[in-house]
Amino acid sequence: MIHPLEKFKFCPVCGSSHFEVNNFKSKRCSDCGFTYYANPCSATAAFIMNDRNELLVVRRAKEPAKGTLDLPGGFCDMDETVEEGMRREIKEETGLDVEEMRYLFSSPNVYEYSGMGVHTLDMDFLVRVSSDTIATIHAADDAAEAFWIPVDKVNPAEFGLTSIRNAVIRFLATIQRIDFQEDKNSNKTPDFFPQT
Ligand SMILES: [Zn+2]
Repeated sequence: MIHPLEKFKFCPVCGSSHFEVNNFKSKRCSDCGFTYYANPCSATAAFIMNDRNELLVVRRAKEPAKGTLDLPGGFCDMDETVEEGMRREIKEETGLDVEEMRYLFSSPNVYEYSGMGVHTLDMDFLVRVSSDTIATIHAADDAAEAFWIPVDKVNPAEFGLTSIRNAVIRFLATIQRIDFQEDKNSNKTPDFFPQT
């Protein structure tokens, strides 16, 4: 995949063609001294569980990986906190209101967009949504559809984006640990939001 700085041929400050590779994450203009850094874009992904032990997934409406499964989420906007970005994306893609969220882990990703590799850093959250809104799920924006899958039927191979697929694998391993910690004689649903 093409490095994100490969397409930047000219210095954006003085227009010089001497805009050269400085190191793996920056280019520098040898005429005016301007240095530009390519940093990963902040992004979010949500593991939304209901009380029937099901995970909410969406089907991607757009490339890349159009038609494959995904988690609600997306890029953070400028001047937005990660938590605000997570709430906004869940609302946009599913119509649901977030009641509680807990940071789980992060996963770097690179995917092809406009002929170059766009690097992102996904931040994954465990999310509980308001039970008042849970019946009103409607897919929109980047999601073609949104539906629940029993967590033991979730297949990571159906998730098209590498970082999301890896996050799903990691999440399922986490769930197994949570299950393991539960009393085996109890039919109680695992508590995904243990008090710390
Ligand atoms: Zn310059």
